[in-house]
Amino acid sequence: MLSNFKVVLVETSHPGNIGAVARAMKNMRMNQLRLVNPKFFPHADATARASGADDLLRDATIHNTLQSAIADCQIVLGASARDRTISWPSLTARQCADKWVSSAESTQNIALVFGRENSGLKNHELDLCHYLLRIPCNAEYSSLNLAAAVQVVCYELFVASGHEQVSRIGDRGEDPLATAEQMEAFYVHLQQTIADIGFLHPDRSKSIMRRLRRIFNRIQLDTKELDILRGILRFSQNHNTK
Ligand code: SAH
Repeated sequence: MLSNFKVVLVETSHPGNIGAVARAMKNMRMNQLRLVNPKFFPHADATARASGADDLLRDATIHNTLQSAIADCQIVLGASARDRTISWPSLTARQCADKWVSSAESTQNIALVFGRENSGLKNHELDLCHYLLRIPCNAEYSSLNLAAAVQVVCYELFVASGHEQVSRIGDRGEDPLATAEQMEAFYVHLQQTIADIGFLHPDRSKSIMRRLRRIFNRIQLDTKELDILRGILRFSQNHNTK
């Protein structure tokens, strides 16, 4: 868990957004949620939108002031959609992730402060922040929904933390890809089997085998998958000779 990052929501009006934030955080292995004067909390809409991340809602701390929510944090980032007339140093979500996730400073507590749905963060709240945190987007329509903004920031932290590599969707696991030699042995076996079961007419065998090779070359089998296919071929040959 990226537990040194604390997501702080300031005066959220819609409890559903709080639930959606909890869900967005848990998806990205974050679990520290702090609420400054939420309008309605706890609330059934928050629980419904959390959809299985209600443990984060249960553990969320409630604060009367932003100062109290960030009191134990060494670095405070204020997320803002707006260009401000006074300029604060600003970083994109990705720059923040690169700067703080894997550095020696990753043992520090870092607050990610998000503002109200209708009016964002006030200047006196940004005065408490070391940096403005910006999600690059369409300059003419730059305000994301609160939970969507939290999602993007948490996603960048997740990717920077390297967790993405271990839980990659479609990860092939430990089995090495089949070698050319193993594939050739498979094609010999396949050709023999489809001849034995009477599917392959000797006149057409060349073009059919070429097409079958094309199918298997497209998908790059690993050795375990190849074992399964060869098992099926063996089975159908035995079956055919009975
Ligand atoms: N209408 C508000 C924006 C509210 S969106 C305004 O004028 O400021 C709610 C919160 O989501 C914002 O306070 C900010 O913390 C975050 N947010 C939304 N879009 C963002 C963006 N493009 N970059 C950084 N934070 C953003």
